[in-house]
Amino acid sequence: MPREKKVEQYDVVIIGGGAAGLTAGIYCGRARLNTLLIEKALVGGLATYTNEIENYPGFPEGTTGLGLMKLFQEQAKKFDVKFKGTDVQKVHLDGEIKKVETFRNIFEAKVVIIAAGGRPRTTGAENEDIFLYDKGISFCATCDAAANTDKVVVVIGSGDAAIEEGTFLTKFASKVIVSVLHDEGIMDCNEIAKEAALRNPKMEFVWNSVVERFEGEDHLERVVLKNIKTDELIPIEADTCFEFIGYLPNTDIFKGIVDMTDRGYINVTRNMETNIQGVFACGDVTEKYLKQVATAVGDGAIAGFATEKYIAESEIFEEQILTEELSLSYIYNAIDGDSRAYLTTMEKLEDEVEAKINIVDVYKSTGIADRLGVKEYPCVVVVKDKKVVEVIKGLPSKEDIQSKL
Ligand SMILES: Cc1cc2nc3c(=O)[nH]c(=O)nc-3n(C[C@H](O)[C@H](O)[C@H](O)COP(=O)(O)OP(=O)(O)OC[C@H]3O[C@@H](n4cnc5c(N)ncnc54)[C@H](O)[C@@H]3O)c2cc1C
Repeated sequence: MPREKKVEQYDVVIIGGGAAGLTAGIYCGRARLNTLLIEKALVGGLATYTNEIENYPGFPEGTTGLGLMKLFQEQAKKFDVKFKGTDVQKVHLDGEIKKVETFRNIFEAKVVIIAAGGRPRTTGAENEDIFLYDKGISFCATCDAAANTDKVVVVIGSGDAAIEEGTFLTKFASKVIVSVLHDEGIMDCNEIAKEAALRNPKMEFVWNSVVERFEGEDHLERVVLKNIKTDELIPIEADTCFEFIGYLPNTDIFKGIVDMTDRGYINVTRNMETNIQGVFACGDVTEKYLKQVATAVGDGAIAGFATEKYIAESEIFEEQILTEELSLSYIYNAIDGDSRAYLTTMEKLEDEVEAKINIVDVYKSTGIADRLGVKEYPCVVVVKDKKVVEVIKGLPSKEDIQSKL
């Protein structure tokens, strides 16, 4: 008989312990939220796969991925974030209380932050596993270009990322050899990048090719390409092979639950909210312009901050707005002068009606208005017996309001 799973309660559960998840943890922990971070592999995420991080601010001499991420984790622990090393298998995200399921546990939380990151797509060629990351196969030109100054590198792929990153690499490497699957002159990238690459004297192309295998002793020494039309093997001596054949977000367990792009990245607002209330996503798991530690940190900070606001708003909503007794909520935007001036009417009304009056400024957050289902402001929302009984649009007179009570 399957063992019953142990249930634990938290304010926040963060799925993924990379730069984004750890930063969200620091913000949540510091806001005194009871926070659990679940990581299935190494805390620190993808950044721990790289030896040198030279572009993260604050470290003029550079730092190691592992070293930097250890500092992130220490800081999260300082703010009392709890850690569990296990794989999240299932999530139930509807309703006020979300459930995050692992092999042994069900973790319940008011908020779930998805920071599950992603992974670069690999070629699957022979010996690829041996040379991944620090041993000569890279997925990040921004990160590893400088280390390849005056060296020969191979680039796999012909999409926008491959050709634009390959062109960037020519500023450092002595030669950039690009393996393209298609016939001569055909590439998957945009025309401008293609023309520039074809004119670049440091770039060479091996058409109709795929990677057959990687060779070397301790580090990559040779990339053996294969012509898919003739089966001819083409060995290329190279220091690094950059693979740009796509990136796969770790979103399988969220499919059909959270809104995603066609490519499986989670859609978020600028506050890192997903389409589900109380569920945020941050870092490489979201569609973004630049996937780096610095941007994952920014996303994580926003998600952590927005979580704190969401939980605080939930409490106000439950305790002051959706009450059994009569309550009035004036929903307004503080940058609108007329709406601001109307505040005095509401204040006067408070003395005359036996009802709690709440003032909700949507300029700060639309969270409470969203929960009330209100899309047009200003308005006055009347609640009784925990139900919205009336939404009076615009700036009603005192008499108008009193007639509805
Ligand atoms: C080789 C390499 C070198 C790089 N070098 C640099 C660099 O020099 N500078 C720089 O700024 N950026 C660099 N980057 C990019 C940087 O690492 C990423 O942008 C950053 O790590 C993204 O952070 P994240 O938290 O969004 O995701 P990740 O770091 O991918 O973390 C996500 C975490 O979620 C965990 N996870 C996923 N699914 C589950 C689940 N179901 N249950 C539990 N845990 C789960 C994963 O195990 C992972 O640890 C490099 C990337 C690579 C691949």
